[in-house]
Amino acid sequence: MSDTSPAAERERADFIREIVAEDLRRGRHREVVTRFPPEPNGYLHVGHAKSICLNFGIAREFGGRCHLRFDDTNPTKEEQEYIDAIEADVRWLGFDWGEHLYHASDYFERLYEWAVHLVKEGKAYVDDLTADQIREYRGTLTEPGRNSPWRDRAVEENLDLFERMRGGEFPDGARVLRAKIDMASGNINMRDPVLYRILHARHPRTGDRWCIYPTYDFAHGQSDAIEGVTHSICTLEFEDHRPLYDWLIENLPVPSRPRQYEFARLNLSYTVLSKRFLLRLVNEGRVRGWDDPRMPTISGIRRRGYPAKAIREFAAMIGVAKRDGVVDVAMLEHCVRDVLNREAPRRFAVVRPLKVVLENYPEGRVEELDAVNNPEDPSAGTRKVGFSRTLYVEREDFMEDPPKRFYRLAPGREVRLRYAYLVTCREVVKDASGEVVELRCTYDPATRGGDAPDGRRPRATLHWISGAHAARGEVRLYEHLFTRPDPGAEGDLLADLDPRSEEVLDGCLLEPSLSELGPGETVQFERLGYFCADPDSRPGRGVFNRTLTLRDTWARLQARGRTDE
Ligand code: ATP
Ligand code: MG
Repeated sequence: MSDTSPAAERERADFIREIVAEDLRRGRHREVVTRFPPEPNGYLHVGHAKSICLNFGIAREFGGRCHLRFDDTNPTKEEQEYIDAIEADVRWLGFDWGEHLYHASDYFERLYEWAVHLVKEGKAYVDDLTADQIREYRGTLTEPGRNSPWRDRAVEENLDLFERMRGGEFPDGARVLRAKIDMASGNINMRDPVLYRILHARHPRTGDRWCIYPTYDFAHGQSDAIEGVTHSICTLEFEDHRPLYDWLIENLPVPSRPRQYEFARLNLSYTVLSKRFLLRLVNEGRVRGWDDPRMPTISGIRRRGYPAKAIREFAAMIGVAKRDGVVDVAMLEHCVRDVLNREAPRRFAVVRPLKVVLENYPEGRVEELDAVNNPEDPSAGTRKVGFSRTLYVEREDFMEDPPKRFYRLAPGREVRLRYAYLVTCREVVKDASGEVVELRCTYDPATRGGDAPDGRRPRATLHWISGAHAARGEVRLYEHLFTRPDPGAEGDLLADLDPRSEEVLDGCLLEPSLSELGPGETVQFERLGYFCADPDSRPGRGVFNRTLTLRDTWARLQARGRTDE
């Protein structure tokens, strides 16, 4: 492996684990406490999974704890459905917060007291400017801001107004509470940031108790401090908020002094990781829901059949960097294939069936042949698969007029039916429109199991299903949701959606045991890919989602030494 391989990158660059280890070594903390702080305004996606693996992973590795804290400071966008989904997703990923489940809203009263504390210290004031005016007064990256005319209100007046804000006297947006820091600061976040806004909205947990809500910046660090979080790990866009985070911690009587560290958020090719956009896809009915198997949500990839273990391996492989970049989605898929190759039982399924009749196989006879469950795992053993005179093979495994390198079925051609016999195509039957509807073949009884006594070795081995034994089902083939690796690069995300990202095949033929799979169970359909039983499955009618094909583009890139950008 070259030096810049993901594994090497991780060794070198996991600066967060180094900091944690150093802090423990030096006795700065006795125990590491991290947190994962989702805002319950949507379902979690694979970017969140990276953060979950990092925060819970560090806690686990260093014998500390990780809290799950809902950052529920924006009641207009937050819903119980999201809270439940987030909890289920974190658990599914294999992590547990134990009794450490918290909500920023648990701290509303204390946060309010601390805001009052700042007012009393002359470090916060009530501002009557409108949101637009505040923006205008704030200045730009190149120009300093201007002081609000309300900035020098007397403490008593501020206290009175803030209390009345809480009391519900003013309409939404009429006033805000701002920290009094420095309107000329080079860091815009320090130009008197808003700490509280008026919002007459019912909160899922606090009901109508509040009509003022703290901003993210005011709630976040203080919640960390209340919980005794030692390392508050967040994504790079909060780097510029760190001075404010520290300013608040320094200026409030908080019980502990957490520190914020930033890492690069996950960006994936062919993928959009933005809750707002994902919500739009759901609302506009462009996908089956938050858990559509094409969605990059944790519930989507779970329904698609990605194992939690593969997500954790992916998180370890990409590591933690300080610089933003785009990870090739093929790397995630590689991790999924890696786990499924080891663990998924092999089964036969024919998704676009073409009938094959073995003319010399006795009518009414059936046989049971031994098939290997998982060549990667001898302990998985073998199973019986039924064989009979009428079989089905994959339509694309036959060509009437095959090109040179097509070795599968063709008129006069002999192929191997896996675990069964060598068969030869004798005749092609077509319907009135000229479509091939049936192949008349013969089998060689001396080749039971797939080997010919005379050493004949056909170049193709096909999967098949016996008509007498087949179960019927639906198979949904999935591709990337977007047509291009950089969706939206030309300005319109929706225009880059791939209308063919889902193809539904009905009348697929499956090994009968597949009807018994519960939702979420994954198998390999031999030669076709990995598939996962969908919750839409009904008794006797399985529905399967294609998790991935067998082609591992990441492994191929790696073999060619092309994985480093
Ligand atoms: P989105 O941008 O999708 O709306 P968000 O950052 O607003 O996500 P939060 O619920 O606030 O969503 O995120 C919870 C935690 O997950 C935060 O600590 C955030 O930094 C982290 N996180 C969000 N997106 C990513 C990502 N793509 N990669 C890594 N961590 C992420
Ligand atoms: Mg956020």
